[in-house]
Amino acid sequence: MAARLLDGVSVATAIRAEVAPGVAGFTSKRGRPPGLGIVLVGNDPASEVYVASKLKSAGEAGLRADLHRLPAAASLADLMAIVDQLNENDACDGILVQSPLPEAMGVDAERRVFDAVRADKDVDGFHPINVGRLVQNRATLVACTPSGVIELLERSQIPIAGKRAAVIGRSDIVGKPMALLLLHRHATVTVCHSRTANLAHVVSDADIVVAAIGRPGFVTRDFIKPGAVVVDVGTTPVSDRATIERLFPPGSKRREAFERRGQLVVGDVHPDVAEVAGALSPVPGGVGPLTIALLLKNTLLAAQARASV
Ligand code: NAP
Repeated sequence: MAARLLDGVSVATAIRAEVAPGVAGFTSKRGRPPGLGIVLVGNDPASEVYVASKLKSAGEAGLRADLHRLPAAASLADLMAIVDQLNENDACDGILVQSPLPEAMGVDAERRVFDAVRADKDVDGFHPINVGRLVQNRATLVACTPSGVIELLERSQIPIAGKRAAVIGRSDIVGKPMALLLLHRHATVTVCHSRTANLAHVVSDADIVVAAIGRPGFVTRDFIKPGAVVVDVGTTPVSDRATIERLFPPGSKRREAFERRGQLVVGDVHPDVAEVAGALSPVPGGVGPLTIALLLKNTLLAAQARASV
């Protein structure tokens, strides 16, 4: 039986509709909309697409979103100067520095920049203070993608409490906060990574599987307990034909899309998983739209929290 598809687009639309009255209320009370400052360094094509989409969505939601661009050759000091400016700007409630940063900025540039963003404007939820609050289950600003996964599960009436969950991936921006959010909702959580032994066997015990590794089609049906809920967070642009042919049969919609565009964004979950899972959040149309909806929500939350201090 084919898995029920979890519809990220409609959940994201619902969240945006809930954010709108809050934005309108804030704007009429404070005489200005909540403000979001986005910083983009360089011209990474994927980042350009993400940032354009964030700016568009923020504008549609009634937020004021400003883009601050730096050339790829900019120094870390140049970037820190913009972050400082946004930290000091009272009309800016949220700051987002788009990753990845150019490699030339140094291996620890991202961490240093995320640490420099004021915690109360950290709409990405990456600042150590916000991560610490998440650990203690008292966070306001939580990383957008894992928060989006929780919204998707809860609004799709998927029970979490008492379930076994496996999170594949342990990054600071997806895997770890995802595991904590599931734990706080009383799941029994296993966090898996590249050194996990017998990965498929470990994951096959789980009622809820979240895959966030960035390896196209890595999670195959032998990882999945029949009826389990599977959330695919992975988004890898693939232009290699052999990978596409391994995953998508001739005549399928995804294969046709590849033939048209020569590239496809592919998730971590093999399409065959739909035959064993009870529910599946697909790529595209699953978690992606939620990440942006949660960014809008976090910007409103940051603005409201700052205004109430
Ligand atoms: P990341 O920082 O590269 O982390 C990847 C994680 O996957 C690491 O913990 C790594 O383990 C683990 N991993 C890699 N290969 C593995 C394997 N063969 N078996 C088990 N674990 C393995 O990536 P990320 O930033 O968390 O992102 C993960 C994916 O989510 C990417 O495709 C990214 O594009 C996507 N993403 C999507 C959205 C969205 O809005 N939809 C947002 C954010 C990220 P180790 O720690 O042992 O190296």
